[in-house]
Amino acid sequence: MPSLEVINQDKQKMSVKLKGIPLQYANALRRICLNGVPVFAIDTVDIIENSSVLADEGIAHRLGMIPLKTDTSRFVERSKCKCQSETGCSNCRVMLVIDSGDTDTTRTISSNELTSEDETVKPTSDKVPIIVMAPGQRLKIEAYARLGRGIEHAKWNSSNISTLVNTDKEDEHVLTVESTGALSPQEIIIGGVEELSLRLNEFKQILTDLKKE
Ligand SMILES: [Zn+2]
Repeated sequence: MPSLEVINQDKQKMSVKLKGIPLQYANALRRICLNGVPVFAIDTVDIIENSSVLADEGIAHRLGMIPLKTDTSRFVERSKCKCQSETGCSNCRVMLVIDSGDTDTTRTISSNELTSEDETVKPTSDKVPIIVMAPGQRLKIEAYARLGRGIEHAKWNSSNISTLVNTDKEDEHVLTVESTGALSPQEIIIGGVEELSLRLNEFKQILTDLKKE
């Protein structure tokens, strides 16, 4: 019987021992934990006002790289959402805004000024610097975050690190996952196992269909 045993875990990182799971499946699980479990990231940015020195695309890129706390229980990926809309709806999209207001001193705008319309989806850290504003400059934006996967773009990676190490026993490997903070490491591994079994079932169905033909 395949088994999965937790060796150690904290808020950021978790190691599990995989027993009786063939190497290729363990490896597939490692990869899914890295970039196959959906997390939130900012995808599109509407710049309402930007008189800073950084170009609009530069701001959009920086915002995309800020890890966002992800609640998977309430949201779905846009491709699987009933709205079938390009812009998304409240089930597949969250809006975050920044309005620097008028500044009379030089100051740094950090992720704590990114206000989310949904309390559960917000930057994992308040301290990610976004831009330095000079007196008289202003930044006002509306950003839209959605669930995505790292295979599409690295900004949707669920883990910073996901490794698989052999033990001295046959068919026994240690999987270690370090979260970006968007999900707990436990949510990543559970999500990874679910995703892997889903893919294997789809693959089995393809084989069954092939045999019928
Ligand atoms: Zn939707």
